[in-house]
Amino acid sequence: MRLPLTAKYAALPEQFFAALAPTPVKAPSLIALNEPLAEVLGLPINALKTEDGLSILAGNAVAEGSAPLAMAYSGHQFGHWSGQLGDGRAILLGEAAASDGQVYDIQLKGAGRTPFSRGGDGRSALGPVIREYLVSEAMAALGVPTTRALAAVRTGDIVLRETPLPGGIMARVAKAHVRVGTFQHFAAAKDLGALKALTDFCVGRLYPGEVGLDPRDKAAFLLEQTIVRQAGLVSHWMSLGFIHGVMNTDNMAISGETIDYGPCAFMDSYDPAKVFSSIDHQGRYAYQNQPPIAHWNLSCFASCLLPLLDDDEDAATAQAQAMLDAFPHIYEDALRARFSKKLGLDSKEAGDASLISGVLSWMEDTSADFTNTFRGLSEGKVDMEQDARLKVLENRWTSQATSAEARQSAMQATNPAYIPRNHQVEKAIRAAVDSGDDGPFHRLHAVLAKPFDTQRGADAYTDPPKPDEIVYQTFCGT
Ligand code: AMP
Ligand code: MG
Repeated sequence: MRLPLTAKYAALPEQFFAALAPTPVKAPSLIALNEPLAEVLGLPINALKTEDGLSILAGNAVAEGSAPLAMAYSGHQFGHWSGQLGDGRAILLGEAAASDGQVYDIQLKGAGRTPFSRGGDGRSALGPVIREYLVSEAMAALGVPTTRALAAVRTGDIVLRETPLPGGIMARVAKAHVRVGTFQHFAAAKDLGALKALTDFCVGRLYPGEVGLDPRDKAAFLLEQTIVRQAGLVSHWMSLGFIHGVMNTDNMAISGETIDYGPCAFMDSYDPAKVFSSIDHQGRYAYQNQPPIAHWNLSCFASCLLPLLDDDEDAATAQAQAMLDAFPHIYEDALRARFSKKLGLDSKEAGDASLISGVLSWMEDTSADFTNTFRGLSEGKVDMEQDARLKVLENRWTSQATSAEARQSAMQATNPAYIPRNHQVEKAIRAAVDSGDDGPFHRLHAVLAKPFDTQRGADAYTDPPKPDEIVYQTFCGT
């Protein structure tokens, strides 16, 4: 089968990747194909649903037009330099020019060993595939920049983790899979030519209107835009109670898309110190640490670009530092705008920040459910008399020109009713993994596709977990 793919990354110098095909699996079967996404990507939907199509999505066949490869990168993991990582279990199939004008990578995650696998088996268990499919598609429906799920496949093979588990493969789509760690890889090797080529590649893919910039301006532009995109991304996460879980530099995309969904989760009750990831013992990637960690990761990125910014090291450092210093302000502005919208504030006023933090501190004191509280405020269902901090908000509403009705409908369009709650995701995983029942996965996915619309018969998906359903930790499953 032929797929309409290009091989731009494969045309980069040889140190960028290892060319190799996926390793076949025993008995693949399709769990889900994201048809609306396939359509945007210009992929042949009917053909992908045939046995031949499944072979491609499972890595058992290489499509004509595909030049499969594993990308090289490095990174800081939990603040420590790891050196070479690379795609140890992911294979880039190629790129598709989509109907939205953007070019997208298509990658198979869990597609077999690569020269970057180190000790790993190159595979993925089915559970993390189900989780990534649900959470990344929910994020897309919520309007958050993210990699997308094109397909999920059962492999028919067993992978060994703590216990034997069914295997899965996820077909993932990204504007580009280039990470901060990709730049670090070539910076560590002092490969200036590669850094230039990578900068050209990123600007060409992500900002095609700017390819004519001279090399210095191009590097400065990419740094500045990446800072803006990451500030916007993390403020968006924070406004939804999303915790990425493993914000290592190899898991931060230059595109500003959320990438590498591992032990990620949405908070139920509001707790700024919340950590889910089982491997995050110090709480480095706790909810409230995400903005400073993004800033830190961006400083790693900036260091890589120094030799491209200016031949004079001091001048380059000063330029990069000035851009990095803007991050907290860009982030705070973006965050305030998000929470102002969530709380239905229709203008910018001096007291906004303290009003917002007042409501959040009330939520923290009462362990309020993050999602349901904002949704409840949007529907006029929160008793505003119960706390002075809520009275401040109510007084603000009264002083505004906007009608209560207009305010509530605007708030409902920004405060979701449905998020992928951990216990629901867990139920979908358990059914798929333990009983081969994909029903809960498909039902949850359908509800999450319209997170802002109150849906008949979907009340159970808004419920916080019962005490015995609370998920305290999430696992990478790698
Ligand atoms: P992650 O924590 O998923 O971002 O992965 C960190 C690094 O470990 C990346 O280089 C992955 O490609 C690699 N890796 C994770 N799981 C596996 C696996 N099962 N086999 C080979 N490499 C893996
Ligand atoms: Mg990763």
